[in-house]
Amino acid sequence: MIPGSFAYHRPTSIGEAISLLADLGEEARPLAGGHSLIPMMKLRLAAPEHLVDLAGIPDLKGIRADGSDVVVGAMTTQHEIVASELLAGKIPLLRETSLVIADPQVRYVGTLGGNVANGDPGNDMPAVMMCLGASYQVVGNSGERRISARDFYQGTYLTALRPGEILTNVRIPIPVAGHGFAYEKLKRKVGDYATAAAAVLLTMSGGTVTACSIGLTNVAGTPLWAEEAASVLTGSTLDAATVKRALTAAEAITSPASDGRGPAHYRTKMAGVMLARALASAKARAH
Ligand SMILES: Cc1cc2nc3c(=O)[nH]c(=O)nc-3n(C[C@H](O)[C@H](O)[C@H](O)COP(=O)(O)OP(=O)(O)OC[C@H]3O[C@@H](n4cnc5c(N)ncnc54)[C@H](O)[C@@H]3O)c2cc1C
Repeated sequence: MIPGSFAYHRPTSIGEAISLLADLGEEARPLAGGHSLIPMMKLRLAAPEHLVDLAGIPDLKGIRADGSDVVVGAMTTQHEIVASELLAGKIPLLRETSLVIADPQVRYVGTLGGNVANGDPGNDMPAVMMCLGASYQVVGNSGERRISARDFYQGTYLTALRPGEILTNVRIPIPVAGHGFAYEKLKRKVGDYATAAAAVLLTMSGGTVTACSIGLTNVAGTPLWAEEAASVLTGSTLDAATVKRALTAAEAITSPASDGRGPAHYRTKMAGVMLARALASAKARAH
């Protein structure tokens, strides 16, 4: 439970952090809230020789509206997301999701950037970002680029981030007013990672679904965007037969591990159950 020794660096600007990561090379890792990285170091599953702490960089903090988007700085904590009136009004799915991440102690320190950059399929925010059509701004020594959340996750702990790059902010399109939303998460106990979870965003007009997006958490090696299930539902009234077809389509793209959270078949079925619940909540909230 004691990590290997490492050198600690605390830059005060994004430029300084990028230079440090470039100079220190592959043995350096960015440190955000440390609530995934430090446990990995204690278990000796990670052994970086240098930690570049992003906590002293003011430009990585904050939540602001920018035209038809909301931009959330990478070092914004889960607690700050829960407390944001802007997000509660414009993208309430984020508050609902943050509230089921871990416990208040973790949420006070764990950051949005760390949650989405970590690459753990058990993290809750990545599937929600895929559902929302969010994108990640990343910067490294060779410049800046923007990556869609739907293209970011390549395998367990494998993302589109290149060595030396840091994620600076998350840009989320504001869903249309009156949209329905829900994040339903099955967990063994308060503070646990998901056995299976589903995020839903939908727009309805006259009782018919005009747009739908679905994300699934912890039922594959990466978070999943359930594109086919959403297209089955679009144009429907969410009648029982169509919902059943959509659940089948969503379950078909899962490939969970059998582990302490249950056998693979059970977790696949729970993904369907969470999706059914999320669809019902989202429908009830849409107006
Ligand atoms: C008891 C406990 C329960 C938990 N339960 C849940 C849960 O239910 N759901 C959930 O989603 N999470 C859960 N977590 C994880 C928690 O949300 C973490 O805080 C989060 O996964 C990582 O955020 P962090 O800021 O702590 O990042 P860190 O741990 O500091 O970093 C995580 C990884 O991301 C990289 N990184 C961080 N920031 C950046 C950046 N800006 N640019 C590039 N790379 C970066 C780091 O190098 C590291 O590889 C739990 C943690 C604990 C300790």
